Amino acid sequence: MDILNIPKGNGKWYKGQHEPIITKEVFEKIREKISSECDYRSNNKEFAFTNLFTCGLCNSGISAREKIKKLKNGKPLSYIYYGCTKSKDKNCKNGYVREDLIIKQLIEIVDKVRIDEKMISDKLKLEINRFNSFYRLIYKDDNKDKKEINIKDYVKHVLVNGSVDEKREIVRCFSGGKIVLENKILSYQQYDYVR
Ligand SMILES: [Zn+2]
Repeated sequence: MDILNIPKGNGKWYKGQHEPIITKEVFEKIREKISSECDYRSNNKEFAFTNLFTCGLCNSGISAREKIKKLKNGKPLSYIYYGCTKSKDKNCKNGYVREDLIIKQLIEIVDKVRIDEKMISDKLKLEINRFNSFYRLIYKDDNKDKKEINIKDYVKHVLVNGSVDEKREIVRCFSGGKIVLENKILSYQQYDYVR
């Protein structure tokens, strides 16, 4: 930054030699990133699993869209579908999968993933504790050795009954691999650390 002149003890003014904290280039990049993240949030706020999976065919991200179907009685019914963003291959042939089928498959994946408990928010931990104390209260007499709910049971519960944000948060806690969507099948691919 050369607009600052720094006063020193001897009364003379020196041109500032220190580097600017961020360059204009970096600043622009950050601003771009922030604004794209904001867009992304507002565009996708109703979808739980956008940008959490990878396309198995072209390695792009997976995003969601909503389709409204009109039922015979005239009532609209909305379905959420997930599919490739085609950012890496605009001709990608990976199909779309309905969200309920995504959730079904995620529940199976839960048993295979490592859940990073450090990433589970305090709010969710509190929920787990509340659930367990409620559970103990109900079963205290007739089912003494009934196990407490474990994290994976809870994750499954959130996938079915949680809010959009809770579902999103819980899938973010899947660690050690990536979730790949290919031809309607969701699979968990563990990162290969040994090379
Ligand atoms: Zn793709």
